[in-house]
Amino acid sequence: MPITAINPATGAVIREYQEIPARVAAEAVDQSHQAFLEWRQTSFAERSQVMRSAARILREGAGDYARLMAEEMGKPITQGRAESEKCAWVCDHYAEHAETFLAPETVETDASKSYVAFKPLGVVLAVMPWNFPFWQVFRFAAPALMAGNVGVLKHASNVPGCALAIEDVFRQAGLPANVFRTLLIGSKRVDAIIEHPVVRAVTLTGSTPAGRSVARKAGEVLKKTVLELGGSDPYVVLSDADVEAAASTCVASRLINSGQSCINAKRFVVVASQRERFEQLFVEEMKAAKVGDPLAADTEVGPQARSELRDELHEQVESSIDKGARCLLGGSLPEGPGAFYPPTVLTDVRKGMPAFDEELFGPVAAIIAVPDDEAAIQVANDSSFGLGAAVFTADVERGEQIAADRLEAGCCFVNSFVKSDPRLPFGGIKDSGYGRELSHFGIREFVNVKTVYVG
Ligand code: NAP
Repeated sequence: MPITAINPATGAVIREYQEIPARVAAEAVDQSHQAFLEWRQTSFAERSQVMRSAARILREGAGDYARLMAEEMGKPITQGRAESEKCAWVCDHYAEHAETFLAPETVETDASKSYVAFKPLGVVLAVMPWNFPFWQVFRFAAPALMAGNVGVLKHASNVPGCALAIEDVFRQAGLPANVFRTLLIGSKRVDAIIEHPVVRAVTLTGSTPAGRSVARKAGEVLKKTVLELGGSDPYVVLSDADVEAAASTCVASRLINSGQSCINAKRFVVVASQRERFEQLFVEEMKAAKVGDPLAADTEVGPQARSELRDELHEQVESSIDKGARCLLGGSLPEGPGAFYPPTVLTDVRKGMPAFDEELFGPVAAIIAVPDDEAAIQVANDSSFGLGAAVFTADVERGEQIAADRLEAGCCFVNSFVKSDPRLPFGGIKDSGYGRELSHFGIREFVNVKTVYVG
């Protein structure tokens, strides 16, 4: 099966790649295992040097990598540059802190000496999505490689050029051969890689169905998994919130990456007293967003990454309207080439509509009005997902209490939009997955937490 990169802004084929045969993929995994036997012996200083070089290459090449992302999946060019810079940050972060994060921990027992050591597992398979085609990979690879593991990447089929460019970043950075490699294979071939005896763990970032499939196979052959899946993040606007600031932050969060982020704000739960003003401000800002060519410096919203995903999004919008949602902005398929979708605002959204129950992966906002603050929290939690959530209130102390104790999600923010940061753990609960990336929690996912006891 060919793997075809298509420019979503024009529909033109960029390049066709051939999937590698199964035998070649299995051999590549064997070679990665051989590389692991050497790599795990290297010092943190040696690994840090490679990671810092990778960071430098990512900064220097940010313009080129941004262009590649724009061409393969439509990311606005300024956001692509920022993504490359963020990858450099995560490389530097783990170069600096990995040794501390994985330092042995002494535990007083009746032994003469007892401690916990953190040792690499071996080959880790990473199944990654197209939406942040560099960031998702580096936030896995930087900690995994610094811990002494080796990585095998199966990237999304619409970003093969990004997948190969990432392999090249590490090659240029001086990473020994086969410590990180890209396999150009389709998703049907993932199970065979999971089954390969030297593969020790799998991490998948992607949709909930893909996560279930990978977890099922990994469970069968007993391989450790981390799953970073979809979300339908609620942004709760309480009765005392500064509605101007809230609406502005909500729009910014809904539109990042042209609405295709797991942690975009997706459901806007607004108390009745704030509703009218919120809707007015929200619609104005959504309308003002500049949609267009992802290569243009002033574009804020590019095309959707693939035309069939754009069409699925439109079906979710239409079905929500059929079930009683009101469309305040957008909602119709534009004429012309490319997988564009207009910024769209739905209101009167309720449970039972796709805009409430499912993930809307595009620039479509679902406003849900509720009578009071308590109802807002309940509606926010009434979701199968639990990735991120935000609460807006003038009472910061109360906001913090709601974020810490009431909202059911892995990352809860007050008066701010949900974002990932190498210093903080990132991940979800419920159908949004399990395990954590980033921070010291992330680097400890793929290690053997080893007890050493000296009698
Ligand atoms: P996707 O269709 O699930 O694909 C993600 C990756 O999984 C791709 O490499 C894909 O390969 C592979 N895949 C798909 N089905 C598979 C299966 N049955 N077995 C094994 N591998 C499979 O998701 P996407 O459309 O690329 O990305 C969007 C989704 O990712 C959204 O739901 C978003 O919320 C989620 N996401 C989550 C996070 C997070 O941190 N929680 C971050 C970013 C995105 P092919 O491309 O070859 O099909």
